[in-house]
Amino acid sequence: MPLFSKILIANRGEIACRVIKTAKKMGISTVAVYSDADSNSLHVAMADEAIHIGAAASSESYLKIDTIVEACKQSGAQAVHPGFGFLSENASFATALEKAGIVFIGPGKRAIEVMGDKIESKKLAESSGVNTVPGHTEALDDTDRALEIATQIGCPVMLKASAGGGGKGMRIAWSLDEVKDGFTSAQNEARSAFGDDRVFVEKYIERPRHIEIQVLADQHGNCIALGERECSIQRRHQKVLEEAPSPFIDASTREAMQEQAVALANSVDYCSAGTVEFIVDSQRNFYFLEMNTRLQVEHPVTEFVTGLDLVEQMIRIAAGEKLPMQQSDVELQGWSLEARVYAEDPDRNFMPSIGRLSHYLPPEEATITLPSGDQATVRVDTGVFEGGEISMYYDPMIAKLVTHAKTRENAIAAMSDALERYVVRGVSHNIPFLSALVAHPSFKSGELTTGFIDEHYPEGFDSSKLGTAQDAESESVCGLALITVPALFAEHKDRTRAGGIDNQLRRSSVTAAEAGAYGKQYEHVSTYAVLLGDTTQTVEVTDRHQPDAITGSSITVRCNGKSAKITSSWVPGQPLFIAELESDASNGQDVFSAQISRHGNNWSVSHGGQVSTISIMSPETAQLQARMPVKQAADLSRFLLSPMPGLLLKLSVVEGETVKAGQELAVVEAMKMENVLVAMQDGVVKNIPETVGASLSVDQVIIEFE
Ligand code: ADP
Repeated sequence: MPLFSKILIANRGEIACRVIKTAKKMGISTVAVYSDADSNSLHVAMADEAIHIGAAASSESYLKIDTIVEACKQSGAQAVHPGFGFLSENASFATALEKAGIVFIGPGKRAIEVMGDKIESKKLAESSGVNTVPGHTEALDDTDRALEIATQIGCPVMLKASAGGGGKGMRIAWSLDEVKDGFTSAQNEARSAFGDDRVFVEKYIERPRHIEIQVLADQHGNCIALGERECSIQRRHQKVLEEAPSPFIDASTREAMQEQAVALANSVDYCSAGTVEFIVDSQRNFYFLEMNTRLQVEHPVTEFVTGLDLVEQMIRIAAGEKLPMQQSDVELQGWSLEARVYAEDPDRNFMPSIGRLSHYLPPEEATITLPSGDQATVRVDTGVFEGGEISMYYDPMIAKLVTHAKTRENAIAAMSDALERYVVRGVSHNIPFLSALVAHPSFKSGELTTGFIDEHYPEGFDSSKLGTAQDAESESVCGLALITVPALFAEHKDRTRAGGIDNQLRRSSVTAAEAGAYGKQYEHVSTYAVLLGDTTQTVEVTDRHQPDAITGSSITVRCNGKSAKITSSWVPGQPLFIAELESDASNGQDVFSAQISRHGNNWSVSHGGQVSTISIMSPETAQLQARMPVKQAADLSRFLLSPMPGLLLKLSVVEGETVKAGQELAVVEAMKMENVLVAMQDGVVKNIPETVGASLSVDQVIIEFE
């Protein structure tokens, strides 16, 4: 079969854009589909044609099989790439396309069906000689049976919904009591979430790593493995950072895992790209988890280390071409790291965030030179643009940031730098959290487990404190916290600019001699108080003033008897601050970048996962301010506020009702997640200003207590 001339992409966001890019490269025309909420989105703008398929809710658009098949017929698309999520692992969709004579760019129906079911796929894995997690491969009838099997396996165990996915439908039971308490609710949850109440039980592997093998198979019986990806950094069983290769896997383990992954793929006559997921214990014993019969979110790290374009391979395989290589031709080169950038607020327990992107400036996709002199490549898979909107209807992923270098250390350095330069404003985002993760000493040394985030951030993440144990010496300039430097530079430049404008206004009345002096270099010394948290430091700034001082200039900072030179081309209003630092202590120059914005009289500076509020003022003002009474925070304990923008799904109390701490008060739905809000203390409901069905903004009052 010749290659297709037109394909339809049954998806949205960054993955739709990513598939369109490859199709364009291959000379294939593209058809996008979109919902009401996406009419102005990037994937629509990038595609050659776009077809509207329904209302914003996915069930009314991206999940409507008939409508999408109709869109294929209408546009003349010969094949469909499903991306991931939505219909990508839906066997009925593959069947409907087949009936209409349209090619599904993915595996056959049987592979999708068998691998979509955790019990069935585990049985097949066992019979194909693949290591599986010790446990039971039948659905449990009742609590007694669950207890019996859990006793045989030994706690801790995991109760899993056979139809589960996306990190949902799993619960850990540390004791038989927890199995007893949890079994019925696990069944109920499975029924309501997946319409299938089959639950099974398996051993809970403690402190494991998640390592998966990418496979690629054609329709001619050839199947190869493309190495592993480590995806141990997860939150609520959802991946956050991924990398290839794994810092833990040795050559013989890789070979054994690859062999088993290929054996499993062959057992279902797999064709297309697929992923076999394993969990690996501290002894490098590995156990099959599931096979994903689609492209994975984290596929770019494999593309970087293999040099292959997996979407191109999927398209070629679907058109009947043979694999371009054999297993012995696969070479893994360098190290690649991916970070998922989400619209969520890490400081508020990762609440999803929606709104308009007032600034969106991703780092440039390019090959960069690191301070070490080594090279690294940066890739950004994005589906949004400045001025666009993150809506409440879909997954809150903004983009994937991917780096590649010769070594893991360099791939991490490039990631830190790229995160520092990634400007997202208008919605909350997890970039400070990602920065803190990649700077964490345990991450840097490759000590990863799926519990990494819970272990290292047991109280949650607080960007006002350093997320990691940072080296104090390297994080300061003349004893001044490095994070204050952008604020000091910016405040000084703002004031200089204001002074410059004053001078220019006065110029009309100055003498010719004075006018001649204006515009020449002169040295100007200012003294500032730098306030960060409870500390105030006095700093002297010397500005060798030049006519073009606002664009690209140096200041010298003196503090604690030391001095440092700061050179930056930052101009007022710019969100990104990049400077070269030369201090008495350092030999040579250090490049430092941070994000900066002004809020009233304060500066907010974000660097390395820390977001700080800094004030720069004259020493006299600082002295006066210290005597000002501290404003008391308003007492909000009498209110239940909406923690996020969303829909008020349920009110569980009525006016006048007495509630106990921990009691359910209301349920708010945002981004497909139901969030149960509970009472923090005992009280009596005085007033409920909102009704069920109301659209809530963040911090909107839902309930007032007496
Ligand atoms: P889903 O289909 O919902 O993504 P998976 O079976 O892929 O579910 O599991 C997701 C994550 O849950 C894994 O990466 C791992 O962190 C954890 N997990 C699953 N099964 C076990 C187990 N038996 N022991 C320990 N952790 C597990």
